[in-house]
Amino acid sequence: MPGCEHMGEVGAYCDGELSGRKRARMAAHIEQCPDCAREVERLRGLSRLLAGASVPQMRPLFLAQLHGRVAPAREVGVVRFAQQLTAVAAAVLVVCCIWLWYVPGSGGANGGPTEGWESAALALQVEMPVDVSPDEQLAEWIVQDLSQENGSD
Ligand SMILES: [Zn+2]
Repeated sequence: MPGCEHMGEVGAYCDGELSGRKRARMAAHIEQCPDCAREVERLRGLSRLLAGASVPQMRPLFLAQLHGRVAPAREVGVVRFAQQLTAVAAAVLVVCCIWLWYVPGSGGANGGPTEGWESAALALQVEMPVDVSPDEQLAEWIVQDLSQENGSD
């Protein structure tokens, strides 16, 4: 099994987050467990490294100006995002309208060449016998459509 099962508590131990009894138990465990002892040393090394790092100082006036600009910048970001979203929605709407306009048979400007099934549907004979089932009717339409295509060739 890789590592010790108490490894997850080492960070809390190092940060002083464990209560009296838990802390004493963890301290006793760390003295016996090389994995946890190594993790304690690693975390303490990181803490020393961070403690030695210098924090850049900002002049109070610059800090006030920075805070003054953050809130409006956030609002501008939301407004800009809403504008971009609206532009995308409008573009999609325009593309869909154009597509619908140019789809053959949609009644648009160009209409395009009619498909065979469309001609068959338009030239449909409604004087079918009443006792014909829908399947027979469909088969009749298909035969009519095929005979029109063969006739035109
Ligand atoms: Zn351990």
